[in-house]
Amino acid sequence: MPKQINFTGNIDLLLEDYRELLVSRFDKDYRRRDLSRIDTIIVHHSGSDRSTLESMSVYHTADKPNGHGWPRLSYHYVIHGGVIFQINDIDKLTYHCKGYNARSIGICVIGNYEDKLPPQDDLTALTGLIKTLNFSVPGVKVLGHRDVRNTICPGKKLHDYLKTNF
Ligand SMILES: [Zn+2]
Repeated sequence: MPKQINFTGNIDLLLEDYRELLVSRFDKDYRRRDLSRIDTIIVHHSGSDRSTLESMSVYHTADKPNGHGWPRLSYHYVIHGGVIFQINDIDKLTYHCKGYNARSIGICVIGNYEDKLPPQDDLTALTGLIKTLNFSVPGVKVLGHRDVRNTICPGKKLHDYLKTNF
């Protein structure tokens, strides 16, 4: 059962700490960075409604050509079922968005949001998480992956939602 945490004083968010769970490569690790380098939150979708934390984790850590060969699932947070899963400390320099990794926090919402919005619980969790991160890293800007890379991620509908709300 996830912990219920009142981060912001007005939204109760469900947080699961997965920093010690899921597959990690014993031979690799992400570097740490100073939090002062972070000025952006990059929002992703997983691209498939069938994705799971485990399937994404295996894909990110498996050696090429089957996966990326990264140390660990690369997002800092994953949102699914209204729950925020913390995957990595925010001072870990992970590999979720080429060119922006050093300066950004990666949040992935499981699903494909090209033609539909995420469930309301997930939008509430995402909004609350972004507000909360704004306390840890003031002034942080919110972008969709497609704002900085040639990709449809995080899907048109979720991207429109970000543009309207942040
Ligand atoms: Zn993405």
